[in-house]
Amino acid sequence: MSPLLALNKYFGYDSFRPGQAEIIDKILHKQNTLAIMPTGGGKSLCYQIPALVLPGLTLVISPLISLMKDQVDALNDNDIPAAYINSTLDYAEVSANFVKARNGQIKLLYIAPERLESPRFLASLNTLAISLIAVDEAHCISQWGHDFRPSYLSLAASISQISQTPPILALTATATNQVAQDICTRLQINSSNQIKTGFARPNLTFKVVKGQDTLSFLLKYLKNNPTQSGIIYASTRKMVEKIGTFLQEKQIAAVIYHAGLSEHVRRQNQEDFLFERANVIVATNAFGMGINKSNVRFVIHAQTPGSIEAYYQEAGRAGRDGLPSEAILLYHSQDMLTQRFFIDNSEADESYKTNQYQKIQDITHYVNTEVCLQQYIVRYFGQEIDPCGKCSNCTDERLTHDITIETQKILSCVIRMHERFGKKLVAQVLYGSKNKKIAELAFNQLSTFGIMHSMHLKDIEMLIDYLLASGYLVADSSQYPTLSVTKLGSSVLQGNHQVSQKVTQATQTTTLTDIDLTLFEHLRQLRLDIARKQAVPPFVIFSDTTLQELC
Ligand code: ADP
Ligand code: MG
Ligand code: ZN
Repeated sequence: MSPLLALNKYFGYDSFRPGQAEIIDKILHKQNTLAIMPTGGGKSLCYQIPALVLPGLTLVISPLISLMKDQVDALNDNDIPAAYINSTLDYAEVSANFVKARNGQIKLLYIAPERLESPRFLASLNTLAISLIAVDEAHCISQWGHDFRPSYLSLAASISQISQTPPILALTATATNQVAQDICTRLQINSSNQIKTGFARPNLTFKVVKGQDTLSFLLKYLKNNPTQSGIIYASTRKMVEKIGTFLQEKQIAAVIYHAGLSEHVRRQNQEDFLFERANVIVATNAFGMGINKSNVRFVIHAQTPGSIEAYYQEAGRAGRDGLPSEAILLYHSQDMLTQRFFIDNSEADESYKTNQYQKIQDITHYVNTEVCLQQYIVRYFGQEIDPCGKCSNCTDERLTHDITIETQKILSCVIRMHERFGKKLVAQVLYGSKNKKIAELAFNQLSTFGIMHSMHLKDIEMLIDYLLASGYLVADSSQYPTLSVTKLGSSVLQGNHQVSQKVTQATQTTTLTDIDLTLFEHLRQLRLDIARKQAVPPFVIFSDTTLQELC
């Protein structure tokens, strides 16, 4: 049977999605292959079709025990004989499934990576006719990835003990070049056998929302979208509970999901969401990997996750059916402290932690960037695309202001502090803070001390975040990152490069909702005039006090 025929016969689809045909072809030619495709891109078919076309058995290694049953049920529904072996089965069930595999009664066998750590299990695999090994969520193999699983580390060694040499197909949605390289090395995949389809998700509209009250934002959003299915992610169980209770009190059909709930409640809530008895599920990242609900219309992150990879994977659960959907990130600077707390208190080794701190910075840059959000994410994964035209940055019509002078002040302060200090201290020096530490270090003697006194301390910090996000400054990846000036930053100091920023208006728009539009327009003109005449930095013009004066 040809792959296309199998696609049609078993799945009822008539064409392959980008990358699928190529990946399947590699496998049928017995090449070890790495498939990097976005979430919802259709990775499963890349091993399910070869499983049907090849003789013998396909072994699928997946870290998601909770989902094996769902996947196997879905295959069986399509008349594809498949089974799984994991810790939820008793001994008799495990043996029964194993016998089915040995007798050629099933085409796919799903197992968890831990299984391969058992020498007995490994030995018994040699009694099976294995024609393909698929490693799903393959980024878990890399310490540089965002979701490293120790049980994946020994995977390569275990696979190499299998006496047959079936091709290996590694699959992931989120691999930076470094992670992809790591996967290839560990699983002996030739780098020319890396197949990467686009990372862009053209049907998703990305939005970053800053400085808004989480609960009121969510309530308003859900009231405006009353019939749509969506996921709200939060970083902690406590926050999940808080949001869930709040929404339920407001008569919104929301259920919650986190690892602290009993298996029974989790299953119940998940099904309520899947079968649309509940529109909304409020969850930690314990929910969703591999969940096959295609009509999720929005994914809102009430708190910022710890990496762009995690964010994109979770946000990518919106719009798997290809229809327009939204991915919204609500940002509060304290979210980053929560993420830091997770890392500080984890038992990982230092180099792993350093890597995770770096990832927190990367996502902070995402939040602060002014380039197209989709473009920003895709670029992070090493691909270039045109701006999407519809994300919250592409549609941002705020005025652009020149901030070259402020940038120069900040950069020269960083240099005067010998590029050995972090954002908070640099901001305090620029602000002219009376902080004891500054006096102790004699930073109050610096020529840059107090040169930004007219701004709020918080605004100076935000401006530094912006310069980080835009590549004028970099922070190293230690626990307390220190700032240094990049090459691009140096060219600003030399006067060869102008820096601009959109005006932050968020807080003002909310206070101005009741003012009629003519007055608003009048104010806007007034601000413009002042900006032109005085070249005052925009954040000063737009501060609450100035606005009050103008009113
Ligand atoms: P991934 O593992 O890449 O996140 P899945 O394998 O779960 O994605 O597939 C996502 C959805 O896309 C599934 O509902 C699947 O049936 C569907 N799909 C996959 N390939 C095709 C195709 N060629 N044509 C139509 N739908 C497809
Ligand atoms: Mg998948
Ligand atoms: Zn865009």
